[in-house]
Amino acid sequence: MTYSPDNSFKSKDEIRAMQEKKLQETVAYVNEHSPFYKELFTQSRFNIKGIKTIEDLSVIPLTIKENLQQRNNDFLCVPRNKIIEYSSTSGTLGSPVTIALTENDLTRLTYNEYCSFLNAGGTPDDIYQLMLTMDRQFMAGMAYYSGIRKLGAGVIRLGPGVPSLQWETILKLKSTAIVAVPSFILKLIEYAKEHNIDVSRTSVKKAICIGENIRNTDFSLNTLGKRITDAWDIKLYSTYASTEMQTAFTECSECRGGHLQPELLIVELLDEMNKPVAAGQPGEVTITTLGVEGMPLLRYKTGDICVYDDGPCACGRNTLRLSPVVGRKKQMIKFKGTTLYPPSLFDMLNEMEFIKDYVAEVKSNEIGMDEVTLHLLPINTSEDTDRKIRAYLQAKLRVIPNIQYLDKEQMHKVQFPESGRKAVKFIDRRS
Ligand SMILES: [Zn+2]
Repeated sequence: MTYSPDNSFKSKDEIRAMQEKKLQETVAYVNEHSPFYKELFTQSRFNIKGIKTIEDLSVIPLTIKENLQQRNNDFLCVPRNKIIEYSSTSGTLGSPVTIALTENDLTRLTYNEYCSFLNAGGTPDDIYQLMLTMDRQFMAGMAYYSGIRKLGAGVIRLGPGVPSLQWETILKLKSTAIVAVPSFILKLIEYAKEHNIDVSRTSVKKAICIGENIRNTDFSLNTLGKRITDAWDIKLYSTYASTEMQTAFTECSECRGGHLQPELLIVELLDEMNKPVAAGQPGEVTITTLGVEGMPLLRYKTGDICVYDDGPCACGRNTLRLSPVVGRKKQMIKFKGTTLYPPSLFDMLNEMEFIKDYVAEVKSNEIGMDEVTLHLLPINTSEDTDRKIRAYLQAKLRVIPNIQYLDKEQMHKVQFPESGRKAVKFIDRRS
């Protein structure tokens, strides 16, 4: 089965058969070419020929980010003169990792992004304005560009930031779609308001949102998503991707989760014991790349917690869908019997009208449990406000964390420790 967007519309059985064939090829390939996996297979002494189905995958030990960080080169399956592109992970958690791509990997990446734009209702009539960087070893920028080219649509590479230039270009070249970080879209809206640009009369009809969540796990728009669409009536498409997987999950027009691209990836969602979770339950996204030549990965734990849905989608695709990222595994808070991730906590705090600003702090108490303190800047210091805030948190969290009210100046100090450049929202002091 060759690359074709039609594959996602085939029956679940056909899709599974295709994935399993590709899985067998991948296992045989890394066993021959990857120093890391060759060693792993020898050490764990299993017969690679025994891996035939997706369930059989579970016998393969998991690969973690530290493996990739410490033995980056041992993942490379080709001689260096076959490498075309050196991409790099952002390194937000730990040191960045190099992901090297061959010509075939670039073709795969192009196909991946082409399908992503098709998922998100793209046509050759579209003109995409890319509000992101094309360089700094950023894989996604290159992927968007080549995917749009394959789609036959127009592309404007404007780069991140500079709202004035973004608007000037939208008005001049009549972009129909933007690819941007959602919080930057808010900045665009703000700029438009200040400069009397009527957003509703511009040519832009949709936004491909990258890097930040615009939805809750039930797929309704979160506070950020609502703030955008309340001010600007455009369709928002959520995406989830990472450099390591060289693949994106992109929403279709139903906006009920990002679709898996079955020819490119097998995804497992695992619990803390590394057992598969049921649909609707949060699990760590664990990926096996299919068809990657340079640096294929088997059962790589991404650290991202998502929820999946494998029910039918009204768009007709028979592929699994992933929710927005619920949180990073390392940031999970176990708080008085509930499990909580910073993004959902932030969303809750953003929505509370009596809270103007906040920082969440978590530390381990004497018995090793997580303890949460919310540093809050309330709209006023009245008892009534305090009562309302506590009642709100009680209703949302079912337990009340420690609350510390700060004034504006104190809040600033907490948010910008040691002349940090970016405001801190989450402080993790756990051992
Ligand atoms: Zn769909």
